[in-house]
Amino acid sequence: MRWDRSETIGLAKVYCTSCRGTGLRPNMKKQSPCKCVLRAIFRACYARFRRCVEKEKFMSSVATLVFCHGAENKRTYGRLDEEYIADFCQVSRRNLGRLDYKIFRNFFLLGADWRLCCRQMDCDRGDFFHAVYRIQETLGRIYREMEPYSLFPLDEYFSGKVVKTNLAIMPKPVRAPAVQPPLKKSAGRRATGWAGDRGWRRAIGQANRLPRLPHPRMIESPA
Ligand SMILES: [Zn+2]
Repeated sequence: MRWDRSETIGLAKVYCTSCRGTGLRPNMKKQSPCKCVLRAIFRACYARFRRCVEKEKFMSSVATLVFCHGAENKRTYGRLDEEYIADFCQVSRRNLGRLDYKIFRNFFLLGADWRLCCRQMDCDRGDFFHAVYRIQETLGRIYREMEPYSLFPLDEYFSGKVVKTNLAIMPKPVRAPAVQPPLKKSAGRRATGWAGDRGWRRAIGQANRLPRLPHPRMIESPA
């Protein structure tokens, strides 16, 4: 994954003192995103996670029809909301340390207040929010850089990804030439029954001379 300005500029803070609104950190050999961009990605994914958890479930819309690249069928049914909730939790758990995951679980997943978290974890407010910002930056980067299917952008996760690549022009298959046995012209005509133009004229003449059916009035009734 390559970070560029077109990707970060919409997510960056306008008054960010690190990136000055561009979303990329200056004076870096390799372009890397600013922390404000990573935190914005995390906040967007977390807001969608809360929406998926809190929204009302309906019996009529249990599964969603999604397009896929199957061998036989191009469509399948999926539970996108439940899949997103599971992905969000599992990816976060795998990529955080023990202490960071404890903070993430208490503060983000269980929704505890920061005062309660500080009291339970025996830390002060500054250390706690430093850890929260660090978790947001770590997870924001991972949600975007996951391959082959990233959590962010969310519209691609929920609506399918459109991959634009250059089309390869396949060469046309070369047809093998038809088998032509070496026959003389006269032998070929005799074998196929071809008699030239004169034969066709004779056939058309015979068709014209077919006996006509008698008029219905001319047919005598059996009585
Ligand atoms: Zn910034």
